[in-house]
Amino acid sequence: MKILVTGGAGYIGSHLVDALMAQGHELYVIDNLSTGRIDNIRHLLGNERLHFVNDSILNEALMERIIEQVDLIYHLAAVVGVKHVLDHPFQGILTNVRGTEIVLELAYKYWRKVVIASSSEVYGKSEKAPLSEDDDSILGPTAVGRWSYALAKAIDEHLAFIYYGKGLPVTIVRYFNSYGPRLDPRGYGSVVAKFVSQALQDKPLTVFSDGQQTRCFTYIDDTIRGSILAATVKEAEGQSFNIGSNRETPILELAQLVKRLTGSSSEIVHVPYAQAYRANFEETRRRVPDVRKAERILGFRAEVPLEEGLRRTIEWFREEQLD
Ligand code: UDP
Repeated sequence: MKILVTGGAGYIGSHLVDALMAQGHELYVIDNLSTGRIDNIRHLLGNERLHFVNDSILNEALMERIIEQVDLIYHLAAVVGVKHVLDHPFQGILTNVRGTEIVLELAYKYWRKVVIASSSEVYGKSEKAPLSEDDDSILGPTAVGRWSYALAKAIDEHLAFIYYGKGLPVTIVRYFNSYGPRLDPRGYGSVVAKFVSQALQDKPLTVFSDGQQTRCFTYIDDTIRGSILAATVKEAEGQSFNIGSNRETPILELAQLVKRLTGSSSEIVHVPYAQAYRANFEETRRRVPDVRKAERILGFRAEVPLEEGLRRTIEWFREEQLD
């Protein structure tokens, strides 16, 4: 097949491109390299089955030329990462809403199947556990910048359902804290990337607040397998899926684990949210996916244990720093 991956030079996007190339498909990648990195796909650049375009998904004319040619679209391009979204709030809303609208409009025009990458962030600060796909989103006030990302992704999902209502085959995947090689500690500020790079440099591991807030960390191979199943299982059309592990880990425990696995002499320090982000920051204290729907319909279950995934991630960060 001919497949478009928007954001295909990003952390998740580039792994998806690798997996789809390995399956023998022809890939079109559009990425403006804002948080994506050419290094993530450099090993594929000479391959005649890979067409890379360095541009924005907001370039409609270009998007039309690409979408016209493909059979399937994975839409991953977005302004991502809590810190990144707080620093670029306008860009975040514009790219994450208008960009998805463009993808869906064109997919509809040419009748192409689409997988929309959404996020567990759409559940907001709901502390219900586990969170199932039809649970409520609980977002904070609009004066708190963090929620603009969740809102933008929620609008993307609404748009996807509207187009599904018109008959377009669309599936939504909600990623839960994916981690693995190619995470960028500067760009995305994901906690795993930050802790691993801090530990490898023997710098303090910065645990925000008391560290008792939890996340379910999902290794990249699982994230990718779930995404591909979402695109290939017919029954998945018109539905959203939690793609994540349901092993809940407090952030303090993650810091201790990273310290142990790296053999680092770093100390673990607690940093108040106000210092880490800004005064009116709001946190999601707990975030656990209900994995039953993905299991039932996609046949997907996250498999890589956290210790193993962290080992592979640490190994990659070590090699990166040597380069
Ligand atoms: N976090 C932390 N130290 C850091 C970065 C993040 O303790 O240096 C915490 C953050 O407060 C949150 C969790 O780690 O509870 C996950 O943060 P991340 O930004 O990776 O993703 P989120 O799940 O919040 O979108």
